[in-house]
Amino acid sequence: MRMWMVPVSKMCRKHLLGEHVEIHMLVGTILRERSIEGYIKNDLIEPKSIYKRHQEIVEEMLKRGYNHNSPLLEINFSSKVIKPYLEHKVDSKKSYLDLIIRCKDCRDLK
Ligand SMILES: [Zn+2]
Ligand SMILES: [Zn+2]
Repeated sequence: MRMWMVPVSKMCRKHLLGEHVEIHMLVGTILRERSIEGYIKNDLIEPKSIYKRHQEIVEEMLKRGYNHNSPLLEINFSSKVIKPYLEHKVDSKKSYLDLIIRCKDCRDLK
């Protein structure tokens, strides 16, 4: 699971929809009280931004004419599985470099 945290307009269809699904999976993980520590250590997720980021992605999806029919369930930010990591921020410059190294379609959206 990865929250790229790069501007949504710079993401190809595959990566935009991929991050969207992964945010839903991340919420599921937190609701099941599974540890997210590994994702934090690898700088893959930004817990505090889950809902804002989901909203931005959904707006971009609708703008591009994709569907969104899945409400994002509510998580409790004071749960022990998420609370210690609330201040973690993804290094979005590094993340963007990872993305464009890996994906030509994202690279072309510059
Ligand atoms: Zn959604
Ligand atoms: Zn891409």
